[in-house]
Amino acid sequence: MELKIGNVRINRRAALRTLVGVVGTGCALDLATSPARAAKMSQAAVSYQGSPKGAQDCSNCKLFEAPGSCKSVDGAISPQGWCKIYVKA
Ligand code: SF4
Repeated sequence: MELKIGNVRINRRAALRTLVGVVGTGCALDLATSPARAAKMSQAAVSYQGSPKGAQDCSNCKLFEAPGSCKSVDGAISPQGWCKIYVKA
């Protein structure tokens, strides 16, 4: 299938490849140039608590970094803690 943009014809595969490249480059630049966005959230902002919520706790969350930190939440994080952005590992 071909797409026509003005007087230029490109096939769908080439258009998708170009789109993926542009979006990927934009995301990489955004991460590299926006330190505020890469900063961790405060514990208060995510309602962090030092105890589990049922079977959910930091030790089985994808974002936990042993022995006591989190990829997304600032400060000391207990393996038995929990917050509202928990992601099951
Ligand atoms: S539940 Fe997950 S995201 Fe929340 S503080 Fe613990 S490790 Fe971080």
